[in-house]
Amino acid sequence: MNMKKFIILLSLISGMIFIVHAQQDQIRVIVIGAHPDDCDGDAGGTAILWAKMGHAVKFVSVTNGDAGHHEMGGGALAKRRMAEAMEAGKRFGVEYEVLDNHDGELTPDLKTRKDIIKLIREWNADVVITHRPNDYHPDHRYTAMLVQDAAYMVIVPNIVPETPPLKVNPVFLYSQDNFKKPNPFHPDIAVAIDDVIDQKIYAMSAHESQYFEWLPWTMGMLDKVPEDDKARLEFITQRYRGGVSDEIKETLIKWYGDKNGLKVQYAEAFEICEFGRRPDEIEILRLFPMLGKN
Ligand SMILES: [Zn+2]
Repeated sequence: MNMKKFIILLSLISGMIFIVHAQQDQIRVIVIGAHPDDCDGDAGGTAILWAKMGHAVKFVSVTNGDAGHHEMGGGALAKRRMAEAMEAGKRFGVEYEVLDNHDGELTPDLKTRKDIIKLIREWNADVVITHRPNDYHPDHRYTAMLVQDAAYMVIVPNIVPETPPLKVNPVFLYSQDNFKKPNPFHPDIAVAIDDVIDQKIYAMSAHESQYFEWLPWTMGMLDKVPEDDKARLEFITQRYRGGVSDEIKETLIKWYGDKNGLKVQYAEAFEICEFGRRPDEIEILRLFPMLGKN
């Protein structure tokens, strides 16, 4: 073998080692929301940060969203919302899957529990994010319950035996909400999303049927929705960019330090669910490599 061939072979081998190494270090996250647009608002900024670092994120909507409109419904709306979700997925840099369950009619039944177990296993998830089980919308509540019910079963080989169980139980997290009873949300982890807030809003705006039609209609302000693209983005930004509460500020200071934590304007926060693996601080930093970097 001459020197040129030897160098090519050497670079091929080191390239392969790099790929194997990168795959071993890749963090795999699945966000499971009730409707096509829930994952986006709850964890979209963090998902962008993971994706930009080469980690794999999947959004799942457990229902097809076919009740979320005042003029459309059924199959036509489900089809429209599927297309919106696919576009949002591209803008976030994540995979997006929409399950074909009716909106507003979700129940925590055995079939759907098995579907969720399968999805978490097939994604080989390190982290699973969902709603908390006390929430105003029954679909959010039952999605949370379905994921909780899957939290242990994903490692049990005799449950859904056709899909191999996970070797390591993932970390299960709840996304933030403002409900107080029976217990308020507790931010164990807070991620600064200032650098990607514009991309998050742009990606969310793919759900046109929601942000520019249905949600304004429910708030009696359909006539306030602007026509041109720039003004429409501003319309969503004003309502959905979120702020930083005192409690979340404290969590940001914990993960980013006094100086950088106080500067953060936009954040997404997560609470650790007791049913999956319980991560220590070192593992949280491994799973959330964006923490401390802003
Ligand atoms: Zn929802």
